[in-house]
Amino acid sequence: MGTFASGVHPKGNKSIAEDKPIGRGPEPKEVYVPLLQHIGKPAVPVVAEGQRVLCGELIAKAAEGLSVNVYSPVSGTVKGVVGHISQTGKKTDHVLIENDFLNVSTYLAPLKEETRETILTRIAEAGIVGMGGATFPTAAKLRAEGKKVDLLIVNAAECEPYITCDYRIMLEYTEQLAEGIRLCMVAAGAERAIVGIENNKKDAADKLMRAVNGGVSVKILKTKYPQGAEKQLVYSCCRRVIPENKLPADVGVVVVNVHTALAVYKAVRENTPCYERVMTVSGKRVEKPCNIWVKNGTPYRDIAQFCGGDENCERIVAGGPMMGDAVFSLKVCAGKGSSALLFLDEGECDERRSEACIGCGRCVQACPMGLSPVFIERALFDKNYKEAQDFGADYCIGCGCCSYVCPSHRFLVQSVKLAKKILRERREKEKAGEKANG
Ligand code: SF4
Ligand code: SF4
Repeated sequence: MGTFASGVHPKGNKSIAEDKPIGRGPEPKEVYVPLLQHIGKPAVPVVAEGQRVLCGELIAKAAEGLSVNVYSPVSGTVKGVVGHISQTGKKTDHVLIENDFLNVSTYLAPLKEETRETILTRIAEAGIVGMGGATFPTAAKLRAEGKKVDLLIVNAAECEPYITCDYRIMLEYTEQLAEGIRLCMVAAGAERAIVGIENNKKDAADKLMRAVNGGVSVKILKTKYPQGAEKQLVYSCCRRVIPENKLPADVGVVVVNVHTALAVYKAVRENTPCYERVMTVSGKRVEKPCNIWVKNGTPYRDIAQFCGGDENCERIVAGGPMMGDAVFSLKVCAGKGSSALLFLDEGECDERRSEACIGCGRCVQACPMGLSPVFIERALFDKNYKEAQDFGADYCIGCGCCSYVCPSHRFLVQSVKLAKKILRERREKEKAGEKANG
């Protein structure tokens, strides 16, 4: 069974939603479609106030450089490009569309031929990003410019507690997913693919094993967090080690998530661009836990009302409890990377007070990147950023294992992420200074 060193075993809590078949989500009166729901630059709007749009119509074009197209998830009337609260707490540009509830759709033109190049172009055209939550533009990833890729790894680990959308996709869209994987292999120029899936999803693994062929195999992985993190997954699946400062493509691998492969299938075979996704709504404070198709730009409040999510629960989390973000406003809208919305009660949240470090070393043992979170935190408090760098703050993947195991409940992941951010900003400042001085 494939696995990696370190990591943790949080309670899965998958049973709340794992048996819920994928259904349709709310039909919002208005959608606020974010222009930035991916890594890179915001897309550039191509619609004007008052314009009628169809579901699947391009509303914002990818900007120069790293960016992706954005499509309307409803038919209706554009009310304008407005500043609207995003998950970061800042107002960013969103296209506001009033839904006419007619669901009139338009589609991409069918592909005339299927080559590596036409598939990559279609993936870019459809605005597909990494739907496991990373939201990196998929076409750029699969193209792996200048690198020779021989292996595609499909991330079916879904190691975050509560989240079950990929699991349901594997069970309910098995054939489409198998074809999506094949298309991703062609797009990456890979001869073979490995689907890495944790051993708590045996039924999905069995179903996939029967559906895949032609160089695709399914590898069972130990149920351990963060099994789905890129470096850990690559090692677990094929024992290749990604060196520091390098990408999977540097060791001949490209990783795509299950939902991303399904989106590729839909774009190529059904000519449907990316404007909605499956989301898990779970936690003890939601009346109807579920896995549902949620249109990009749907306000979290609409989702809460649709599922009976308690707005006054202890905590609402976007994404999983390990890497997700606390939701501070239900006005925030779902995007391409919105895998889950959790409504948690007191017992599901760790509200212990932070106490002094007792030097137990558990955070060091748990860190899957081999870092020393306790020392990075101390260096941060001392403003000794050189030391924070020496202890590896730059390589933190934000998995939260250190905080999870800390008996003193220190906010380690927050500290390490802050140290990483400060180091990045200092480097950018230095670079800008060097440029200015010629
Ligand atoms: S330091 Fe970063 S990578 Fe290591 S356990 Fe903490 S959050 Fe994860
Ligand atoms: S796990 Fe917590 S208490 Fe133990 S060394 Fe790390 S920071 Fe200190």
